This record gives sequence, C-alpha cells and structure tokens, in this order.
Amino acid sequence: MAKVDINPNISITLQRAVDEAAFWKLQDGRPRTYLGASIIGHPCARYLWLSFRWFGFELFDGRMLRLFRRGKREEETIVEDLRDAGIVIEHVLDDQLTFDFGCHVIGHPDGFIKSGVPETPKTEHIAEFKTHNDDSFHELLKLGVKEAKPMHWAQMQCGMIGATRLFGHQVNRALYVAINKNTDEYYFERVRLDEGKALEIIKRGQDIATDDYIPLRLSSKPDWYQCKLCFFHDFCHGSIENRTLPEINCRTCCHFTADKDGKCRCALFDNAEIPAEAQLKEQYCHVFHPDMVPDWAQATKLSTETSMAYSIPQLGDDIVLNGAGGYSSREIIDAIKGGAASAAGIKRLSEEDNNISF
Ligand code: SF4
Ligand code: SF4
Repeated sequence: MAKVDINPNISITLQRAVDEAAFWKLQDGRPRTYLGASIIGHPCARYLWLSFRWFGFELFDGRMLRLFRRGKREEETIVEDLRDAGIVIEHVLDDQLTFDFGCHVIGHPDGFIKSGVPETPKTEHIAEFKTHNDDSFHELLKLGVKEAKPMHWAQMQCGMIGATRLFGHQVNRALYVAINKNTDEYYFERVRLDEGKALEIIKRGQDIATDDYIPLRLSSKPDWYQCKLCFFHDFCHGSIENRTLPEINCRTCCHFTADKDGKCRCALFDNAEIPAEAQLKEQYCHVFHPDMVPDWAQATKLSTETSMAYSIPQLGDDIVLNGAGGYSSREIIDAIKGGAASAAGIKRLSEEDNNISF
C-alpha cells in the first residue's frame, strides 16, 4: 500500500478547536416542548413519540451545528432575493408566525407571502425555505417536493391550514424555495393545499403526542433503510446489552400525561400541570415508563400506585421498586452503568436529591 504523507501545514489542532467551540456555542440545550410541523410528516410514529417524550437528545458535533447555522443564515439571503424579485413577504427570520394546532402540535412557517409571486401576483402563500446538497437538489428537480421530500410537503400542508385558521380566510398555496448549497441554484415549487391530507397529518401528530403508549416500530428489521440511521435505532433494535435507556425527565416518567388541551400533567401530584422547565429536571419522584424499558419485566403485584416494581436483567433479574418507597431512577441507572450485578449494588443518593419542585 502506498504511504500517504500527512501535509504538515494542515492544522488538526485548530480544526478540533473550531469544532469544539462550535459545539459549545451553537448547541441549544433545550428540547422542543411540542411536536413540530417540520417533523410531523416523519413516517415512523414511534420516532415522533420518542422525540416528543424526550427519550434521548441527539447531540450534534461542531461540524453539523455549523451546517445548521449555515442553513439558518441562508434564510436571510433567500428573503432578500425574494424581496428583490418583487415578492412581498412578512413574518420571516425572528418574526415567524406560530400556528398552534392544539394537542401539542405547533408549526412555524419560514414566511408568509402577501403578494408578488409572478404566476399569480395576488395570491397569498406560506413560504418554506430549505437548503439542499447537490444529490438532494437533483432528486428534487426530478421528482418534485411531494415525492422527494414528503416531510417538507407535510410541513407546508400544515402551514396552509394554520394560516387559514389564523387569518380567517382560505390560504391554499405554499411556495417551496430550495437552494443548492453547492451551486447556489434555486428551485421554486408552488404547492396546493390537499385539505383532507393536511387534516390527517395534523390529527396523526396530535394522536401520537397524546398517546400514553409507545407506537409500534416502523419495521422489525434492524437494517431497514429508515431505521439504520435513526437516532433511536439501538432502542428499537438493540439487544439487552446495548439497548439505550431513557433520559430521566418528566416525559419519560409513567406518571406523565400530555393531555388534549395542550397541557402536560403529573398523575402523581393530583394531575397538576408541569411547567416546561420543570419537565426537563431530573426529579427524584421519576418512575420509568414501562414502554421505555422493554427488557424490564413488570412485577405488577409488587407495584404500588406511586412506584413500579421491575425485574431488571442488568441487575441479575432482581426485582427493584422504582419510585416512592424504593429506588429513584437515577440510583437504578447509576447501578447499571456502574456494573452492579444485583440490586444490592444500588447506592442511595443523599437526602438533598430528594427535592421535588415545580
Ligand atoms: S429505529 Fe425505526 S422503528 Fe425505531 S424509531 Fe427509528 S425509524 Fe422508528
Ligand atoms: S413530577 Fe415526578 S412523578 Fe411527576 S411526571 Fe415528573 S418525574 Fe414523574
């Protein structure tokens, strides 16, 4: 094999430093509290449910975060280009509209076009801007947005319904603006409202968000193309040894409900509403939702109203009470991660960790 000389002028250290700086500067640590119209068209109901329930948080590296930043910055250029072409567009960048569809489903379109689209100058349009790499852009040219990017199409369908409800008159067109990051070429497509489909998409999102139980997998095959690259792959298709365990927050707790009135409540505390900031906190009262720990068998007879008894394979199948009168979720996770072979290895946290506040 030919020897490859590393160019001594390449600064790997600087590359690492820049990536690390971007990671700390650009990552937004707060997850979305709602199911966004931008992902609602995802083909897997389980993916949407796990995302909404904060099962885990995908951390992107510095390079990916810079890529997202570039996409965001591109919006300014697109708005400028559209305005230069005579389009009257409002509610862009930091002034986006919010469409609250109820039941935890919310959308924010990239813009609202009042007039000026040459083919139909007086028609209002919802606007969506998307950056594409070369392959994705050419697929779009070939197939159109509905087929090439069904999630973007679904997002615009929601947007048209949202605008119609917000403004009280029919908005039945969307303008899809795609830009090729490699060549700066534009692709524009005017999308018509498919009202039946749009309402179906919104209803599906609402049903998923308010479902107390985990939806079925999209596929039982670990190498299914949509599962292979999915963030939840190891949870859905892993074995006991490598199955991902949930984060500890209110949304992964069995006492949590996302109600149809758009509020999140805790059954343990008399169905009190839980503020968004409190939901993210690791509460001592947390009890794992059984659907999120599928390898742990429930010992129903030993469970109580406030706690769940689980036989935990990672702890030698010992039965452990998770919740009041037993062990906190953190104590159990620490024992598993620390390699404890049985429940005897669970260490109690200090009393100060016992605070519940919201
Ligand atoms: S791995 Fe597959 S089944 Fe699981 S959430 Fe992802 S897409 Fe859905
Ligand atoms: S407050 Fe405690 S019991 Fe209620 S949902 Fe949150 S973690 Fe669960």
